[in-house]
Amino acid sequence: MNLPLAKNQWSDLLPLVSLGPKRLPVVAEICERLLQKHRDAEWLPAERTLSVSLGVSRAALREAIQRLEIQGLLEVRHGIGVRVVNNPQAPVRATLLRALPDFQQRLRQFSEVRVLLEPEIARRAAERITEPEGVALLEVHARLQAAGDDVEAAVRADLEFHRHLAEIAGNKVLALMLVSIADLEDEARRVTLVRVGLPQAFSQHQAIVDAVVAGKADVAQAAMAAHVLAAQREAYRSSDDVSSSGGAPGEKPLAHGDAQAAPPA
Ligand SMILES: [Zn+2]
Repeated sequence: MNLPLAKNQWSDLLPLVSLGPKRLPVVAEICERLLQKHRDAEWLPAERTLSVSLGVSRAALREAIQRLEIQGLLEVRHGIGVRVVNNPQAPVRATLLRALPDFQQRLRQFSEVRVLLEPEIARRAAERITEPEGVALLEVHARLQAAGDDVEAAVRADLEFHRHLAEIAGNKVLALMLVSIADLEDEARRVTLVRVGLPQAFSQHQAIVDAVVAGKADVAQAAMAAHVLAAQREAYRSSDDVSSSGGAPGEKPLAHGDAQAAPPA
């Protein structure tokens, strides 16, 4: 009674947003069967073999593969084959690349999101951390220093440190958000971490770790704010160097509460 549209009316709307009225159920069914039959990391049989075994046209099969690729569930390697993967960040990345094709803009906007989220993550981590989690956090923290001059290892160690804190903070949605933007994090860190400097980043992490392990939520929040604001300054500087579009050059980083960002050494 309170739903004005009957079931068949909903399905009537589907062709408006889909690839084709008749083929949609077929393609959706092929997608489902492909994922049921093949496990993670498994290579799919050749297209001809697969279309025979599923009893579907090669055109419909191709469409299903394309759809699963967009969803981050298949990886198409041209000339090699098609493999089952699990990249939940793929749709977010594809959407972001389309919405924000300019790398400098992505860098700026991503750093703004970090300034909003990460201090809160640090605060929650300090409020909830257990002793074993504290020991694990120290181990993860040490990896940044161990990376030395290896930028790849340093980027990995930094990302791991922040994800680890998000897990300790105990909010699954926040942790999932970080996973879904992993590629974006990766490309941003290659710029900001290097520009901030590894010794500086390590000492900022040290201040965060000390506060989180000691359960000092306010201090942890301020220490993280200082860390992400330093990264944000470098993101802004990087985009001011390169881009003349969007945002005023020399625009000040977002202030965050009463936390004062320590200027990079
Ligand atoms: Zn960091």
